[in-house]
Amino acid sequence: DFRDRLDTHVTRWVNPTIGALKAYPVPDSTGLLKLDAMENPFVWPEAMQREWAELMSATHVNRYPHPDAPDVKAGIAEVFDVPEGVDILLGNGSDELIQLIAMAVNGKGRTIMAPEPSFVMYQMVARYLSMEYVGLPLTDTFEIDIEQTLRRIEAEDPAVIFLAQPNNPTGNLWGDEKLRRILESARGLVVIDEAYTAFTEADYLDWLSDFPNLLVMRTFSKVGLAGLRLGMLFGHAAWIEQINKCRLPYNINSLTQATAAFALKHFSVFENQTQELVRQRRQLSAQLAELPGLTVFPSEANFILVRTQPGQADLLHAGLKDRGILIKKLHGSHPSLEDCLRVNVSSADENRQLLDALTELCAE
Ligand code: PMP
Repeated sequence: DFRDRLDTHVTRWVNPTIGALKAYPVPDSTGLLKLDAMENPFVWPEAMQREWAELMSATHVNRYPHPDAPDVKAGIAEVFDVPEGVDILLGNGSDELIQLIAMAVNGKGRTIMAPEPSFVMYQMVARYLSMEYVGLPLTDTFEIDIEQTLRRIEAEDPAVIFLAQPNNPTGNLWGDEKLRRILESARGLVVIDEAYTAFTEADYLDWLSDFPNLLVMRTFSKVGLAGLRLGMLFGHAAWIEQINKCRLPYNINSLTQATAAFALKHFSVFENQTQELVRQRRQLSAQLAELPGLTVFPSEANFILVRTQPGQADLLHAGLKDRGILIKKLHGSHPSLEDCLRVNVSSADENRQLLDALTELCAE
C-alpha cells in the first residue's frame, strides 16, 4: 500500500548517514521550570519592552531584510570592541555558523575535530555533511591532554577544530597555553566558540591578529536573547568572504535585525543580568556541593555539571521532572558523563526551587 511505497522511497534515497541519525533532541518543557538549555531567566525592564513593541509595530516585513544587517554589525563592533580589520558574519544562531564553516571547508576526507564531550552540534554537522569526525578524549577532570591532542592533530590533519571556551557541558576553560599550542600546530582552522564568554574573563578577539587559522564565534543566546537566533563569527576578511558564500540569502530576518540593533543599544541591561548570574553561580555551586552524594565540577559558564552517586542520575532527573523542574540528563550521552546531570544557573528564586527539590530527592 501507500505507506510501504513511501517507506521504500525514503529508505532507498535518504543518505544512510542521515537515516542513522537522530534529530537534535529538544524535550517537551510545557509547564516546567526550564533549567536545561542555558537560557537567561530574566525578562526586560517594562519600559524597554514597551519601546521594543513600538519598534516592532513600525517594522515592516513585506520586503526582504537587509542582506548584510549593517546596523547589527555596527552595534556588535561597538559593544564588543571588535578590533579594526576583523570581519563579522551573522548566523541564525551559532548553530548555523558551525554548519557554514563546515560547508566552506568540506571535501573528500575532510575532518572535523572537537574535544569529547563537547557541544554535540560539531559532530552532528560533520554527519550532515558526510565529513569525518574525530573526538579528542579528555582527562578524568575534563581537561585537554595536550601531548595526545597534538599527536592526533598531526595524524588527522583536521580541516577544522572546534573548541568551546568554556566547554559545554563541562563548564571548564582549556587554558591559554594549550589553545596557543593547538593554534600553532593545527594546519586547518581552529574555531574558538565563546558561546559563554559573558560568564567568564576569557576573550580571544585579540588573538585574531596572531593566528591566520583562527575564527572566534559568539552568540546572543546565552546572554538573554535565545529566542532571537543570532550568532556571530569573527575573522579575517579572507576567511569570512569564503564562508559567507555558503550562507543562504537573508538568513537574518527583519525582526531579528531590528531587535538585535535595539538590544545592542541597551546592552548594559544584559550585562547586569549576566553579572547577576555569575554571582548566582558561585552560590549555587557551593550549595549543590553540600548536598549528599553530589560532586560539583567548577564552572565558568551559566550552567553547572554535577555527578550523582552511581545509578542515581536518571532518578534525580525524573524526580525533578515530577516536581516541575527540567534539567539536562547527560548520563548515557557519553561514557565520560556517566551519572552526570547539567543544571542551569538561574535567578535566586529559581535556584532555590531547584535546591529545595534536590534536597528532598537526595534525602530519599
Ligand atoms: N556553542 C556552544 C558551545 C553551545 O553550548 C551552544 C548552545 N547550546 C551553541 C554554540 C549554539 O548556540 P546558538 O545556536 O543558540 O547560538
